[in-house]
Amino acid sequence: MVNLLAAHRHASNNRAEIEASTVCGCFCCVQLFAPAEIVAWTGLEAADFDNPDSFDGGTALCPRCGSESVIGDRSGYPLDAQFLGRMNEAWHQKTIIRPPAARK
Ligand SMILES: [Zn+2]
Repeated sequence: MVNLLAAHRHASNNRAEIEASTVCGCFCCVQLFAPAEIVAWTGLEAADFDNPDSFDGGTALCPRCGSESVIGDRSGYPLDAQFLGRMNEAWHQKTIIRPPAARK
C-alpha cells in the first residue's frame, strides 16, 4: 500500500527530483507531462531575489492547472492513473480510502 503522506512530500521542494525525472504527474488535474513543460516554480526565498539565476530550490507548479501537486517518476512512485487518482482523492477531495476493518 502506497504511503500517500510520504508521497505528498515529493510534491514540495522537489526541483532536483523533478529535473532528474523523465515524466511527471500532477495529482490535481491527474495528467502526465515532461519535466521540461514545467516553467513555474514557487518557494523562492528572500535571499534569492538578489540572484534569481542561482535559485535552485523550489516547488514545481503544474503546467496544466498551476497546482503545487507535481511528482516526478524519480520519486520512485508509480505515476499511473491509479496512484494519481488516489493522491487526488486524498489531497484534493480530502478523502481517505482505507480497507474495511477485519471482522472479529
Ligand atoms: Zn495539474
